[in-house]
Amino acid sequence: MILTLVEHDSGLPDEVSLEALTLARELADAEDASLGAVVFGDEAAGVADELGPYGVEEVHHVTHEALDGYAPHAWGEGLAQLAEEVGTDAVVAPGTDRGHEVLAHAGATLDAPAATNCVGVDGVDDDGYDLRRNRWGGSLLEHARLEAATKLVSAAEHEYPIEEAEAATDPVVTEFEPSLDDAHLRVSIDRVESSDEEGVPLGEARVVVGGGRGVGGDDYGDLEELAELLGGTVGASRAAVNEGWRPHDDQIGQTGAKISPDIYIAAGISGAVQHMVGCKGAETILAINTDPEAAIIQKADWAVIGDLHEVLPELNDAIRAKQ
Ligand SMILES: Cc1cc2nc3c(=O)[nH]c(=O)nc-3n(C[C@H](O)[C@H](O)[C@H](O)COP(=O)(O)OP(=O)(O)OC[C@H]3O[C@@H](n4cnc5c(N)ncnc54)[C@H](O)[C@@H]3O)c2cc1C
Repeated sequence: MILTLVEHDSGLPDEVSLEALTLARELADAEDASLGAVVFGDEAAGVADELGPYGVEEVHHVTHEALDGYAPHAWGEGLAQLAEEVGTDAVVAPGTDRGHEVLAHAGATLDAPAATNCVGVDGVDDDGYDLRRNRWGGSLLEHARLEAATKLVSAAEHEYPIEEAEAATDPVVTEFEPSLDDAHLRVSIDRVESSDEEGVPLGEARVVVGGGRGVGGDDYGDLEELAELLGGTVGASRAAVNEGWRPHDDQIGQTGAKISPDIYIAAGISGAVQHMVGCKGAETILAINTDPEAAIIQKADWAVIGDLHEVLPELNDAIRAKQ
């Protein structure tokens, strides 16, 4: 069996888990193995209804009286015990922080190796998998060979398409209660606070206006106005976030949000590789920078060489005049 960690919100699987299922199904088809899902939390029956179109045959619902919400070590331990119980060939997780955290804990218990952020399967044989995986936020592609009785794999975020199976299934739901002790529950989520930010989340925005160190301070008024005029959202480089000018939620890049807008307007951002891996999904990039030699100028589709404090107000005036 190939087991896939499926995260869900009130029974609705999230996008990255469905992407991971595409990879898991490719492995299951190649091995002629069955496809299973593992879910934590309530609403397991609801998740099962959603997973039939993706060819999932079994949904394993991990429950425990002390398990209330996310607890990384306990989830990893539960996953490892389940993998041993059902005798799985591989565990596939979404390539998110949480997916990797759970895989790492499961790997420590199972003494199993992991290949994370996979973008392709080159081969499957009796001993293992040949995989392609993103390193350094996608700036390097690695060919990896993974050999183990239980192989741990994660699917890089937004690299696999969400695809339904040729034949839908009617998954069977099975409850699984792992044996957990206090040490497994030492870290757990106490409460969840939502950000004060309003508007379209960065990852879903069709227009993003990003500001970097070149903005020179926490006055993002011109960028916010441009974003509002275009129905978009403001983002930032890590330098701007580190300066305390913008919240971390706004950060685009390797250690921030991955965006895929129709247009990304990057103002006062140099174009470091760690920033660019977060916006490589943008259809069009417009850079505004005083330095014609800045790395982003080479990577952008359009560039305005100039001071953003002069360019942005003029741009906003011009757009307003057209409306
Ligand atoms: C492990 C690791 C992870 C990282 N993750 C991220 C990440 O997720 N996201 C990220 O962004 N960075 C990340 N970084 C940091 C990254 O390497 C860069 O340091 C950062 O992106 C630089 O931000 P910046 O372009 O705003 O600043 P700078 O590199 O200082 O560039 C400022 C730019 O503004 C231009 N400028 C200055 N004044 C003006 C003006 N008035 N008008 C127009 N242009 C002007 C300058 O010419 C320059 O090109 C990471 C680094 C590491 C080591």
